[in-house]
Amino acid sequence: MDKNLYRLLCCPQCKNDLITKPGKFYCKYCKQTYRINGGIPDFSYKINESGMKLSQKKWNEKYRHDAQKNIAGELDFLDRKFFSLVRSQIEKHHRLKKENVFLEIGCGTFYFGRHLAKLGYPVVGIDMSIEALKLAQTVFKQEGIKNYLLVCGNVLDMPFKKNSFDLLYGAGVIEHFPDTFSAVKELRRVLKKGGVAYNTVPYLNIGSLTYRQIWGNIPRLPWLEAAFTFFHTKILGGRHMRFGYELSFTRSYLEKIHRQAGFSGAKTGQFDCELDFDYLKNKFLRRLAIFLAKNSPLFWPMIYVAGKK
Ligand SMILES: [Zn+2]
Repeated sequence: MDKNLYRLLCCPQCKNDLITKPGKFYCKYCKQTYRINGGIPDFSYKINESGMKLSQKKWNEKYRHDAQKNIAGELDFLDRKFFSLVRSQIEKHHRLKKENVFLEIGCGTFYFGRHLAKLGYPVVGIDMSIEALKLAQTVFKQEGIKNYLLVCGNVLDMPFKKNSFDLLYGAGVIEHFPDTFSAVKELRRVLKKGGVAYNTVPYLNIGSLTYRQIWGNIPRLPWLEAAFTFFHTKILGGRHMRFGYELSFTRSYLEKIHRQAGFSGAKTGQFDCELDFDYLKNKFLRRLAIFLAKNSPLFWPMIYVAGKK
């Protein structure tokens, strides 16, 4: 952990500077103490919003289970599978320079930050799952990585000062908050002027309205959203919602809320990701599904939105 990066921290509630004490931080305005939990600054004192609580519970369960695995091997696997693919797409919107500070929201075990840190970039990761961050920290320590800061906290109320980051990345994060607009505003706050927020989210299309329903996806469309939320949370009780509450969006909606949140512009498009249709047993159907997901906007699984401050 690079303690120089503590300079970016602030009180998540009032956004004033914190007083650093041994093993904790203190806000004299809110009279609130934030402890350092196993080496990780912990600002997750209150996660009240119900959708987020459900996600937090599911993710902590997943990472507690993952703790029994070979985590470094797991991160190597993710690195090989995703790092170059993701980086090349992000760098079309912001090319990282050496002194740039990178933030990943919902970083999990932070395979992406691990690779960037090894290349020499200062990296910061925030996640609401302390279990995930502890796994990441264990690997970083083993590998002698030092130029990083991991923080446990709420993406809707981040413990970071305004104008802190050059590039912010969220892989499937902002669709997990019902109040997407507040989330986008919060991302803009922590970015420097000219900085870019690059997020990937499920695309609202025929794909999300059909096969994505097995994970309980909720389309962000005025009348459909209420009906799907009722169906998945009240009738089915959220059992099949693998990652908790999850929305899908149209491109125009994402562009609109970024502009409304004060971004100077926002671009959207297809996000090229690894496709997983292993649950389709029929070979022909599987090939068709992969073809459609790659080539037809009606079936693209994920899109990106790159907002420039
Ligand atoms: Zn405060």
